[in-house]
Amino acid sequence: MIRGTIKVDTEICKGCELCITACPQKSLGLSNNINSHGFKYVELIQDNCTGCINCALVCPDSAITVYRQSKNSIKQNKKVTV
Ligand code: SF4
Ligand code: SF4
Repeated sequence: MIRGTIKVDTEICKGCELCITACPQKSLGLSNNINSHGFKYVELIQDNCTGCINCALVCPDSAITVYRQSKNSIKQNKKVTV
């Protein structure tokens, strides 16, 4: 099974939850913390991400970067920049 992980730019995320809905693994949830713009942001809530990139594709603000595991290292699979 392919393993993945994500990074969220917490200052860009506005907590719209589109990525939470799009994640087939239900790996994502809203943090209880807020960013400097007053929005709750998304974070990984389970260690079961497959690196499918659905979340990054649906994010309207390109706040998510997805990484996939490659042998012994985590290799960047898709980087979305603003
Ligand atoms: S890459 Fe796929 S499995 Fe991982 S958090 Fe995003 S939507 Fe979920
Ligand atoms: S889709 Fe993007 S902006 Fe919306 S909650 Fe997810 S990371 Fe944040």
